[in-house]
Amino acid sequence: MIACDCQVCRSTDPRDKRLRPSIFIETGTGESVLVDAGPDLRTQALTYGLRQVDAIIFTHGHADHVLGLDEVRRFNALQRRAIPCYGDAATIDDIRRIFWYVFDAATPGGGGLPQLETIVVKTPFRVGQQEIVPVPIFHGTRSILGLRLGAFAYLTDCSRIPEESWRLLQGLDVLVLDALRERPHPTHFSLSEAIEAADRIGARRTYFTHVSHDLGHAATCARLPDGMELAYDGLVIHVGLDALDSTAHAPGRPGAAP
Ligand SMILES: [Zn+2]
Ligand SMILES: [Zn+2]
Ligand SMILES: [Zn+2]
Repeated sequence: MIACDCQVCRSTDPRDKRLRPSIFIETGTGESVLVDAGPDLRTQALTYGLRQVDAIIFTHGHADHVLGLDEVRRFNALQRRAIPCYGDAATIDDIRRIFWYVFDAATPGGGGLPQLETIVVKTPFRVGQQEIVPVPIFHGTRSILGLRLGAFAYLTDCSRIPEESWRLLQGLDVLVLDALRERPHPTHFSLSEAIEAADRIGARRTYFTHVSHDLGHAATCARLPDGMELAYDGLVIHVGLDALDSTAHAPGRPGAAP
């Protein structure tokens, strides 16, 4: 937090140094999928050695999830093609408005513009051979997208899971779920709400994300139920290696962590 001297902001534990939420997924069939493109994308891509982005999935259009999108120009140059960007209708509208110059035919071209193809999704879709299931969740009053790939689900910026989405979350190996802080918040799960939802979902392992400086990593993990912990920058998670097909990075430094 800018200009904060609390214990967590002064912590020397690297797991208390948090950039904006985003994950990078390498599927078992070789696709590289970025989920959200926040303002720290450039730093994250350099730190964790991202080399390829085949698709971007946007959970929603808030600044902390989209404002790094212009940085994907480098992947356009390396891959020599436009990058498909998936999201719900409201999110794709947000992206086309925020990055209006990308989609305005009057903008001079050259190397200065990202090449993006926006695609509205409501139902399961594929990136290469990987099926991706949109899981609608509520972020305050707005419905946004959670995602499921095989036995992995990512639900960031969540304050309520609607009835019809619980059935999309059965049989998970790994769940990543929003848990902002202890105190209630209008648009995010508090830690106790997140634990309750994680219990009901019953994934083998749950990692909490979008964590604020109210929660120190080590002290919070020490009092979480078995099978639940806070995620941290650089965490690498291998999902269902025997059963299913995805490796999720959050956003991962190759080989850095269990
Ligand atoms: Zn602080
Ligand atoms: Zn948000
Ligand atoms: Zn957010």
